[in-house]
Amino acid sequence: MKFTDLGLSPEVLKAVDEAGYTKPTPIQEKAIPYVLMGRDLLGCAQTGTGKTASFTLPMIDILASGRARARMPRSLILEPTRELAAQVAESFEVYGKYNALSKALLIGGSSITEQERKLERGVDVLIATPGRLLDLFERGRILLAGVKILVIDESDRMLDMGFIPDVERIVGLLPKIRQTMFFSATMPPEIRLLADAFLMNPKEVAVDPPSSAADTVVQSLVKIAGERKDKRAALRALVRAEAVKSALVFCNRKRDVDILFRSLKKHDFSVAALHGDMAQPVRTDTLARFKNGEFQLLVCSDVAARGLDLPEMSHVFNFDVPIHAEDYVHRIGRTGRAGRAGRSITLALPEEARALAAIVGLLGHPIPEMTADGVAGWTGGDPSPRGGRRRRTRKRTSDQPRGTPTARNVAPETAQSRSAGTQAPESRNGADRRPAKTAPTRAEPRRAEPARAAPKEPALRERTPVERTPKERPAAAPSRPSEPFGEHTPAFLLRPVDPV
Ligand code: AMP
Repeated sequence: MKFTDLGLSPEVLKAVDEAGYTKPTPIQEKAIPYVLMGRDLLGCAQTGTGKTASFTLPMIDILASGRARARMPRSLILEPTRELAAQVAESFEVYGKYNALSKALLIGGSSITEQERKLERGVDVLIATPGRLLDLFERGRILLAGVKILVIDESDRMLDMGFIPDVERIVGLLPKIRQTMFFSATMPPEIRLLADAFLMNPKEVAVDPPSSAADTVVQSLVKIAGERKDKRAALRALVRAEAVKSALVFCNRKRDVDILFRSLKKHDFSVAALHGDMAQPVRTDTLARFKNGEFQLLVCSDVAARGLDLPEMSHVFNFDVPIHAEDYVHRIGRTGRAGRAGRSITLALPEEARALAAIVGLLGHPIPEMTADGVAGWTGGDPSPRGGRRRRTRKRTSDQPRGTPTARNVAPETAQSRSAGTQAPESRNGADRRPAKTAPTRAEPRRAEPARAAPKEPALRERTPVERTPKERPAAAPSRPSEPFGEHTPAFLLRPVDPV
């Protein structure tokens, strides 16, 4: 199929041609005609598949007729992170160069006055992270009654980051009659329920089976006996041994991003660091310099790197095995993009066997092993390709009320913060978020027999509260710990659950 078969306008086709695209990607082929027809869309697609253009291209054409009114955006795109929002805004620049559409990017860490000024002038496309959008709404700077097209992108990430109550609130402020596009890389049952709640008779398009990794990525696993310093030595050996043009190196925690960054710098690697605690101008500048090839390595956390379009990425290193198996798919999806060859190498200590097993369970096959020069490996605890984590049941003690968070019923980031020790996980404060509302428990990946070498799970801790301004801080802890949403029970949880 050619772009000219999709029903796009000559202006958009010209911009696409100038972007160098010769033919639509599968998600574009499937989605664009339905979006142009005005249908709701449920898209199951990873980043790297051309997903952004699958909604931006038809939106440009739909919005080409009509005019924006002051403070009343005509369309809204919700993104979980500032970087993703900025990337989508860039796409509108590229694809919309022959259409005079106005847009505003509402993200934290940038001047709110400038954003207000843009809104005042009227915008066709509003690209926002949920927190900043609600802030501006509460200040009376924006009216959402004119939104005719809504895109909820990276929904599974929104869920992970606890944004769903905010997204629900935002959707409640929009007109009922609208066109909605809902994208997610994975489709666990909670996401399916959300889609049912937000979409009306949607057309479903999927380009990759959920949770599969792009087959252009050659994956390897290096098992390292020892501790984190041995991992650092292994990483150095691997970077030297492989033809690394440009690589992302993922850590699970911000603190470890900093430690690894300093270590690599000390060993004279060309390296930068990126995580959500860094000031937005520094994040933007680091990313721009990395994209320009100023650094070979970017040590980063999931929230900072999620969905980023870095086409020249030759390698992804998982310095830490991701705690959520789905993050593995997202991380390695940063390489091997748009059909290019890519390489991912995951470094695992014995205590990461359990997380590794979950990944193998999700992928449905083992990750081929390799060794790093001068680094001892380990055996045992080999993950079974048949499944992921063992179902853990944790007894509730008599002084805990029903619904006290256990390993199974807490929000994912809570589970992450527990297993990550004392530091709050990246997603809690690394993104542009409103405080203290938690996501429902995400679907657990397929489960496996327990890995033999899996260590004992660390003791459970109470959730780490998300930062709040003094005004927002509640007087007391939530009175009903059994409700992961606090006072807010999202509408989709009140709906009967269809078997999926
Ligand atoms: P996305 O999945 O939206 O993050 O896009 C991944 C990458 O694919 C981006 O670098 C896009 O510029 C690129 N891309 C999108 N559509 C096409 C296409 N039809 N042909 C080639 N590259 C594309």
